[in-house]
Amino acid sequence: MNAVRHIATDLYQLLFPDLCSGCGSNLVQSTQLLCLRCEQKLAEYQFHGSPGNRVEKIFYGRLNIEAASCAYYFSKESLVQHLIHQLKYESHISLGHWLGRQLGIHLRNTGRFDAVTAIVPLPLFKRKEKKRGYNQATILCEGVRSVMPVTLCATSVIRNRVSATQTRKSRWERWQNVADIFSIRDASALEHQHVLLIDDVITTGATLEACGSVLQQIPGLKLYIATLAFADL
Ligand SMILES: [Zn+2]
Repeated sequence: MNAVRHIATDLYQLLFPDLCSGCGSNLVQSTQLLCLRCEQKLAEYQFHGSPGNRVEKIFYGRLNIEAASCAYYFSKESLVQHLIHQLKYESHISLGHWLGRQLGIHLRNTGRFDAVTAIVPLPLFKRKEKKRGYNQATILCEGVRSVMPVTLCATSVIRNRVSATQTRKSRWERWQNVADIFSIRDASALEHQHVLLIDDVITTGATLEACGSVLQQIPGLKLYIATLAFADL
């Protein structure tokens, strides 16, 4: 897995050396990923993770969570969408790590995730992960971990199948669509832990709800949820 990931990263950097991942302009330093203008633009999409924020509201009456938040608003044709697309479909792993790091900094700044001890990426169906070569949520987790003292538990939960697209379904239909989609493979590392479940984008929240409800069957587990972006579509 790591070998595939590193090849993907190297390939990306070979194809697009020293160009801004946001706008494609030349970068002053090759260690940067975004130019100053794109970094400033990204800040405009910043999400505020105060209690009762829009991500938390999604789970009201559905899941008992300690806190939930995300780093950015996501809209069609936005810079945030463009960056996430590169993480998901163009193997831009270093960008994913950088975005995960931004998410970690955001979570730290809210002061509401300090008790988190373990992070769990929303699992992909095995065949899908194999085809992509990586799980984008795991890449984000690796970035989060670089700024938060947490243990990454990427194999505790597994996904039994893919779910059909969630749009144009009622809430009940969406729930049926994702019920039994996840199972716990190894609960030992998560018992009595403060667990943060992470995904790239939240839309209806149905998939995160399904995974979260499975996690909450583990004794003593306290649940937190964070995504890189909130789809404001
Ligand atoms: Zn740029």
